Amino acid sequence: MSTRTIPMDDRLYDYLLRVSLRESDVMRRLREETAKMPEAGMQVSPEQAQFMAFLVETLGVRAALEVGVFTGYSSLAVASALPEGGKLVACDVSDEWTRIARRYWREGRVDDRIELRLGPGVETLDALSREGKNGTFDFAFVDADKESYVDYYERCLGLVRTGGVLAFDNVLWSGRVADPADHSASTRAIRRLNEHVARDSRVTVTLLPIGDGLTLARKR
Ligand code: CA
Repeated sequence: MSTRTIPMDDRLYDYLLRVSLRESDVMRRLREETAKMPEAGMQVSPEQAQFMAFLVETLGVRAALEVGVFTGYSSLAVASALPEGGKLVACDVSDEWTRIARRYWREGRVDDRIELRLGPGVETLDALSREGKNGTFDFAFVDADKESYVDYYERCLGLVRTGGVLAFDNVLWSGRVADPADHSASTRAIRRLNEHVARDSRVTVTLLPIGDGLTLARKR
């Protein structure tokens, strides 16, 4: 028994996956293909993708937003959890990575509910805002360049409706956020986001130690 989150060694982690992970064949193949890439660490863990799909289902999300698609594992999970008529706007800068994503979205038969927008994230979010999409999204997941996290946060907060949820990945950054000797640009940017969210009275918030740390902020 514990009054704090238990540490997770490999044996316990394998057990967790064995008793709870439900991953489709398409999802597994996408995860395995991505694992061979040099940037493999950018993919969310399978239990985190499953958690977000669960969240999307539970919240009754119909309009979702993703900033940072990479090869599409989390967007495939989220899009699969959307109801009939649901929509995911997926933003990324890379045509190369999202070409893999699009292939698996087709295989998973969710390509018709995903709108891919290629370009710098902030510009894409500003464009959505100009198109009158403020307050129209139920859920936004951000897993892109860390230096822009606060900018993404402010824009996504405008784009989600009251009661909508923002999710930010990598907020524990392999523990580096708590290492006073780490002054790298990414680490400082994530700390900036964490402190920004912590004192933001426009949201209620929780930080989950799942994957590399996931902050959930609900717009009040
Ligand atoms: Ca990530």
